[in-house]
Amino acid sequence: MGLLRAVFTPLLVSMAALSAGAARANEPALKVVASFSIIEDFANQIGGDRIALTSIVGPDSDTHMYEPTPADVKAVAQADIVLINGLMFEGFLARLIEASGSDAEIITLTDNAEILQDPQGGHYHFIGDKAVFHAAPEDPHAWQSVSNAQVYVSNIAQAFCAADTAGCSAYEANQQRYSATLAALDDDIREQLSALPESRRTAVVAHHAFRYFENAYGLTFLAPQGMSTESEASAANVAGLIDDLQAQQVSAVFAENISSSRLVEQIATEAELPMGGTLYSDALSGAAGPAPTYEAMMRYNVATLMSALTPP
Ligand SMILES: [Zn+2]
Ligand SMILES: [Zn+2]
Repeated sequence: MGLLRAVFTPLLVSMAALSAGAARANEPALKVVASFSIIEDFANQIGGDRIALTSIVGPDSDTHMYEPTPADVKAVAQADIVLINGLMFEGFLARLIEASGSDAEIITLTDNAEILQDPQGGHYHFIGDKAVFHAAPEDPHAWQSVSNAQVYVSNIAQAFCAADTAGCSAYEANQQRYSATLAALDDDIREQLSALPESRRTAVVAHHAFRYFENAYGLTFLAPQGMSTESEASAANVAGLIDDLQAQQVSAVFAENISSSRLVEQIATEAELPMGGTLYSDALSGAAGPAPTYEAMMRYNVATLMSALTPP
């Protein structure tokens, strides 16, 4: 009897494994929600077709200011895993989790990343003429250094492995492949930017989204500041910033994909500086745009910076 059980049990187990495998071919192992487009790309790189992936904030959109929809509530309610940036980037998150009644695992991808304090305790967004202060004692834009992106994808692979052990080797293989892509990207960025002389390494951007980039790659970005919370970006304020520009050897002014370029164009005109193009700060482009993946985004930003900052 003991012998019979020993012979038959492995057979039963392998039949169960087979039927689970068959079910998995039709339906993904994990339902995953990403809070915004950059995390969506990371999740896609690691999860491939083992996961069903939904993103809350779409391409070219501002996550800081986003208002969730009923479709978002439904997606979060059904999710196994919700991937977020954290550091108060997703201001809508607490309300969304509560409204959905979701018991999904919430994974904060900036955990274990190298995080910069914000000396001002937050940063300004300019919406039309309005300066809106976004309080965040730690700068949330951590994905703008590739070494932090490595931490994001490592956290994603760990979360997927924990929730879907049968897929773990696939997630780890995807992570290894993508991690090599990111390492090559990091090297390329350093190599290209190293060609810029000291006098051509300062620029104006529309909001303070690039501190991690400047910290990692040795550029300096200035951004317009409001005078106080919810204040207008007054003429006096822009004039104050322009004094700074002349003192600080600014070479160009860049728009960003998630907001209107009106204010930075005004700054460029008044300071007689060239507009250097559009940088992708807090969101990818759509599929037809120049930055549909994180890697494409970083390469496009570097090409845009190099084309405007390379000495004439
Ligand atoms: Zn913000
Ligand atoms: Zn931002």
